Amino acid sequence: MLQIKPFSDSRLSDSCIYCGGLADTKDHIPSKCLLDKPYPENLSVVKCCNTCNQSFSSDEQYFACLIECIKAESTNVKDIERDFIRDILEKSPSLRKRIENNTKTTDGNVIFYPEEERIKNVLLKLVKGHTAYELSLSRLDDPQFFC
Ligand SMILES: [Zn+2]
Repeated sequence: MLQIKPFSDSRLSDSCIYCGGLADTKDHIPSKCLLDKPYPENLSVVKCCNTCNQSFSSDEQYFACLIECIKAESTNVKDIERDFIRDILEKSPSLRKRIENNTKTTDGNVIFYPEEERIKNVLLKLVKGHTAYELSLSRLDDPQFFC
């Protein structure tokens, strides 16, 4: 994987890309929960504050688990392909149940009804992270609309 060298203004690199506060940690872009080990070399990172970093964790976990459940067309842990996600769902039966409670089976097909705010939170994080990393642009504001 080609690592992009940051040439951004130091005012951007010292600030949390999500809230503009003091950056005291780093965040992987894309989120590690969307990847399997071994991770790519030189995984992209952006600076952020610990509060923002932690605030995304449960939504990212939900997002990654939801994707795998949709791929498997099931919330049964035995049907989940990725070891990492299977482990999360085994250790968090409440998360698995939460996803399962938002499904409906019709004519043998499982329909998933995602929690839109959680999906939106993860997608905005990814957009802001990639924008900061690849374009050296900090977007602290949320978009006016979200499709
Ligand atoms: Zn922050």
